[in-house]
Amino acid sequence: MRFAYRVVNIQFLKMVVKKSKAKAKLDKALSDYVRKSSADENGIANCFTCLDRKSWKLMDCGHFITRAKMSTRWLYKPSEGLVNVACQCKRCNGFLGGQQYVFSKRLDAIYGEGTADKILRMSNETVKFSIADLQEMTAHYNDLFRKLP
Ligand SMILES: [Zn+2]
Repeated sequence: MRFAYRVVNIQFLKMVVKKSKAKAKLDKALSDYVRKSSADENGIANCFTCLDRKSWKLMDCGHFITRAKMSTRWLYKPSEGLVNVACQCKRCNGFLGGQQYVFSKRLDAIYGEGTADKILRMSNETVKFSIADLQEMTAHYNDLFRKLP
């Protein structure tokens, strides 16, 4: 009995590790796509919050609502006006803690009044992603990335 319990535990731990690797891969795929698709033909992108211009490779993929909230961690649907991630300079994303207030003002200015509030509400909903969901989204963003000029 005790042995069986340990086996289940190991399976569970393996699943947790697999899921955390899938999350990290999706983080990277989305980050690469968001940053590169924000760049001009010379590879220069604007920071979403301070508008500083740098190579997309030197930028971060910043979040409006913290990555800790799974329901909005990978929310990036510009055509629907629902965007929780954007190309941000390392100063805004790191040193300045993400510039959440400025981020929210920019979201409202670009996607319409109330956008930031809507994303904030979405962040408090419970959304469960399976490993297959995460892998599917990763493949989607990797595909979009490859199609960028
Ligand atoms: Zn910035």
